[in-house]
Amino acid sequence: MAGGQWGHGIAFIRRCESIVESEVIPMSYVRALRCKECGTEYPASSTFTACEEDFGPLEVVYDYAAMRGRVTRESIEAGPRSIWRYRDLLPVDWERAEPPTGHRSGFTPLIRADRLAKKLGVDELWVKDDSVNQPSFSYKDRVVAVALARAVELGYETIGCASTGNLAHSVAAHAAMAGLEACVVIPHDLEAGKVAAMKAFGARVFPIEGSYDDVNRLCTEIADRYGWGLVNVNLRPFYTEGAKTFGFEIAEQLGWKLPTHTVLPVAGGTILPKVHKAYRELVELGLVADTTARIYGAQAAGCDPVATAVREGKANFRPQKPRTIAKSIAIGNPADGPYAIEVINQSGGWADSASDDEIVAAIRLLAETEGIFTEPAGGTTLAVAKKLIESGRIPRDEPICIGITGNGLKTIEALAGIEQPGARAANPSIPARIEAFAALMS
Ligand SMILES: *Cc1c(COP(=O)(O)O)cnc(C)c1O
Repeated sequence: MAGGQWGHGIAFIRRCESIVESEVIPMSYVRALRCKECGTEYPASSTFTACEEDFGPLEVVYDYAAMRGRVTRESIEAGPRSIWRYRDLLPVDWERAEPPTGHRSGFTPLIRADRLAKKLGVDELWVKDDSVNQPSFSYKDRVVAVALARAVELGYETIGCASTGNLAHSVAAHAAMAGLEACVVIPHDLEAGKVAAMKAFGARVFPIEGSYDDVNRLCTEIADRYGWGLVNVNLRPFYTEGAKTFGFEIAEQLGWKLPTHTVLPVAGGTILPKVHKAYRELVELGLVADTTARIYGAQAAGCDPVATAVREGKANFRPQKPRTIAKSIAIGNPADGPYAIEVINQSGGWADSASDDEIVAAIRLLAETEGIFTEPAGGTTLAVAKKLIESGRIPRDEPICIGITGNGLKTIEALAGIEQPGARAANPSIPARIEAFAALMS
């Protein structure tokens, strides 16, 4: 039993009593699954993944009263250095001694970025660095670890996803670690490094002639017909919960404080509302003070439905056809887009977008100042943060945290043709002779 390791012995016994009462198989402190649209509740053990009434997405609801006093800063700090230190706030079953994967996922560095802060002219800047997340070097290892734990509990043998690249890479890696089959569906024009990695992990890869939105539509039908556990389709309520760990970690690593301003990229629109939920849960449990925590969305100008809606003051977005180097966040019809907009507005944040050139410049800025090599999604976040600071939306004298969600080594195409500092021409190779070297240096 997990009680010893996780310190849940007493709570576990109480939970067994409640099983008899309610005749459902609860997941830890999970109280129910609730439709985000109409509020209809389903038992925690339900295998529904969308509302039967209106097909609205289901949100995991917890019993915070039962957690209070048991889920503490100390209980979390005593946990493993991975997402599983927040296991009480995730929809996984306590009875499982070890979740199948995710033991190296999460608890990535939160870096005080003073050199970058100086360049941007701000006092206090933090970078949450998921470019080094494990095992697949993006934020997606968080959501996949949680979805996969639930997939195993539900008995799925094949897992998959609709992906813009990082998700498929992560699903392939986690499936390999758990000994499951992986079948991933992607747009045909993704970065070569990501596709090669998916295949190296042994996943079956299905490139589709179309955009992510075409891939996503197809995957709903695939999940129905083949009975696979598609992490962001029929396992979506659990998948999205994993994104909260990004927010939990920021707060814990800041010394149990919320940053006043958090800037995050928007793809399917999952991470924004879930970081917001994470912050609210920590406040609810009394683990952080209820201070101002504004949340800002960053998108590429070539695919910015959420940023456009925020700028225009609309509650919903108009779908777009993506055209940007920031492929991992190029979702023209984001499933959780309306919730991202809602959280941006409610928290008093904002959203903006950056051109491909601005994204590449920001990738370089982060690399040159902080030694962090990110992919275009991270470049987008920094480029937008810079704009928000320059326009005065984010004040220069308040704590700012930017979310870096992916690794640049996976997207070297985005930097094709990038020149060395000071180089006059492309970057020609030279003979191995000192005269040739000296000629270049002169
Ligand atoms: C998936 C992804 C995101 C965010 O996606 P959401 O669907 O909005 O949560 C951000 N950055 C990278 C690199 C990603 O792969």
